[in-house]
Amino acid sequence: MELNIEKLESWSPVKDRPVIISGPCSAETEEQLLETCQSLKDEGIEIMRAGIWKPRTRPNNFEGVGAEALKWVADVKKELNVKFAVEVANPEHVELCLKAGVDILWIGARSTVNPFTVQEIADALRGTDIPVLVKNPINPDLSLWLGAIERINAVGITKLGAIHRGFGSFQKTQFRNVPAWRLPIELKSKFPEMPIFCDPSHIGGKREMILELSQKALDLNYDGLMIESHRDPDNAWSDAAQQVTPKRLGEIVRALKTKTSTSDNSEFINILEELREQIDESDREILEAVARRMSLVEKIGEYKKENDVTIFQVNRMNDIVKSRKEWGEAMRLSNDFVEELYKIIHIASVRRQTEIMSNVSVNQPVGEAGEE
Ligand code: PEP
Ligand code: MN
Repeated sequence: MELNIEKLESWSPVKDRPVIISGPCSAETEEQLLETCQSLKDEGIEIMRAGIWKPRTRPNNFEGVGAEALKWVADVKKELNVKFAVEVANPEHVELCLKAGVDILWIGARSTVNPFTVQEIADALRGTDIPVLVKNPINPDLSLWLGAIERINAVGITKLGAIHRGFGSFQKTQFRNVPAWRLPIELKSKFPEMPIFCDPSHIGGKREMILELSQKALDLNYDGLMIESHRDPDNAWSDAAQQVTPKRLGEIVRALKTKTSTSDNSEFINILEELREQIDESDREILEAVARRMSLVEKIGEYKKENDVTIFQVNRMNDIVKSRKEWGEAMRLSNDFVEELYKIIHIASVRRQTEIMSNVSVNQPVGEAGEE
């Protein structure tokens, strides 16, 4: 599907790159919002953010002040002469935000994941031309993200952008949400005109990671950043660990290095960098998958040991090589390559299992035994 998207230059309230949107995870009190925004303005920030409705993953946490906080938003806008971005999760939110004069809306990760919700929001936006930023869905599914952007675009919203906030993962990592950079890069390569923002706060989940993640996003030519900031981060009512003071926010923004050159050569280098990022990401996935496989091999080793079962099951190994070659073929990987690869994986697996079963006599040369 073709998208009809306006360039960021034509609708961004600020000219500087990257466009910075900052403010607390949640509006908590009138004073907290005003004081935080005042300090951010002193640091040069012109677009504020705040969560008004905060459906959390589990109930019984702070769930946002609700519509009442929109009055505070309107007051902050008037008093400080700044723009404001707010998350909307249903048609009523859209209506209330439009009435309150909110400048930019964004769709949160928990809404993007649900096409019913996105369609309801889209229908409420019909006939308006407010800018809308679409966060990536929680799960690493590019089509869901694109689908949400298409639904919003289809009702006539052309001032559109994407926010990369990272993806849920069932594996424990250093991130709160794994960045999976290849997904936003793929989005950007499909729709180069799509402005893309990074939300390092929700990716990292820790304030210490914000600078590095933001720099990486800029190195990948992102257009903007959405960063959570709170006057007293440690005592924030939501997402305390990932918020920074406005002063620190200012330091982070000033520490960021932006690329200035736009020559053909630098474009080439950017593309090369993007491809290398993708290779790094793939290599990490390969190693994670190999490590996961190895821990399964270990479990089987333990299990067989407990049950006094032999590790040598040649048929299983033959089946593995045969099926992997077929899978590989479907992925345009040559038979020889897949066979070589599995020999290496297999030798390492057998070695590991033999260590575990070291009380079993092993006469077979390593590399010829079936390990699973
Ligand atoms: C937020 O921006 O505060 C938020 C709830 O983000 P996400 O939808 O990315 O979880
Ligand atoms: Mn948050």
